[in-house]
Amino acid sequence: MNINLEEKFAEQYHKKADAIYFTPGRVNLIGEHIDYNGGLVMPCAITLGTWVAIAPNNDSRFRFKSLNFDVQTEVTSNTTNEKDGSLWANYPIGVINEFIKDGKEISGLDFLFYGNIPIGSGLSSSASIEIATAYALNAYFNLGYDKLELVKIAKRVENDFIGLNSGIMDQFAVAFGEKSKAIVLDCESLKYKMVDVDLGNYLLAIINTNKPRELADSKYNERVAECQTALKLLNEEINLHYLCELTAEKFALHSHVITDKTILNRATHVVKENDRVHLAAKALNGGNLAEFGRLMYASHESLRTLYEVSGKELDAVVDFCTDYEHVIGARMTGAGFGGCAIALLEKGFEEDFAKHLTDYYVNKIGYPAAIYISEIGNGPYLTTDTHR
Ligand code: ADP
Ligand code: MG
Repeated sequence: MNINLEEKFAEQYHKKADAIYFTPGRVNLIGEHIDYNGGLVMPCAITLGTWVAIAPNNDSRFRFKSLNFDVQTEVTSNTTNEKDGSLWANYPIGVINEFIKDGKEISGLDFLFYGNIPIGSGLSSSASIEIATAYALNAYFNLGYDKLELVKIAKRVENDFIGLNSGIMDQFAVAFGEKSKAIVLDCESLKYKMVDVDLGNYLLAIINTNKPRELADSKYNERVAECQTALKLLNEEINLHYLCELTAEKFALHSHVITDKTILNRATHVVKENDRVHLAAKALNGGNLAEFGRLMYASHESLRTLYEVSGKELDAVVDFCTDYEHVIGARMTGAGFGGCAIALLEKGFEEDFAKHLTDYYVNKIGYPAAIYISEIGNGPYLTTDTHR
């Protein structure tokens, strides 16, 4: 963090922060657009994230300030509070509401947030600020929630209070992430396995296309519907709950029932992408980073040509990476149509990569992308504790 949050807290509230907690953002390493098809995803926490500094007040108020936004606000801490338009503070307010509804006693508190995750770019700054709030309150007041309960609270906030119909992966990854590990997660059963990811001489480069987010939501719903159509057709021959119950081999035996080319492409992506997650876990377990990189490229290609959720901005990044000698794998990550791509970049080439990618991207797209160098980081933790 290149900001002194303790100092900023003192400036804002004229007292010392009692504790500062960090919560990461996340990327999905592989397994894209299959969580809603019963497939496995493979997210990890990143070293970019959200810090929250807190200290109690005696006014029965919650006060919210973020260094990322100009607007600050405060609400009473005796009752639950209504959603306030599209205000950023709805995220912490929603979390606190859940705690209050659950009968937890939380007194007045002053909050100062700061995030170095690009906001609204698919790295889940929203799950990060939700879990940051939930984790901080749980730890500070010793409320006794376990991590999974915090995840479920944060998801409820995102779905019911913010009103975004998203799955549980983001909150889960942000809360359960561990340094140098990926999470292989079944979003339905919440069964998961941690996989060691030894990046060796490589780093995780995160490239934000900076494309304004427009299409993502409607196209997302369209893909969900197309997968349901494929499932319905397959169910004329075999009994399935989810497309991802099929391996690529088994799918090939039944795919003839899908005559529409587009629907067939969508289903093919889903089934093969799920296989790729299994292969990726195997490659990482065996320390075969080169194979993992190949699977990342294959995943992107499938998202580009079969699932059609990429776009010229994400493709420009991945095309550049394919030809750049010091990258061994790259793909779009998240819902697509913009947002971020990730790449496995050899250490020592950060500047060279940034310079050449920037030139290439500006030339093709007309405005620059933003490049972040990250590692696979830890879930939430206390960074500074001045109250004991
Ligand atoms: P993403 O999760 O992809 O970054 P979202 O639109 O889901 O994008 O969430 C972004 C929103 O989360 C922001 O507009 C803001 O309301 C809230 N948020 C995230 N990080 C912060 C922060 N550091 N300070 C204040 N609000 C934040
Ligand atoms: Mg979000």
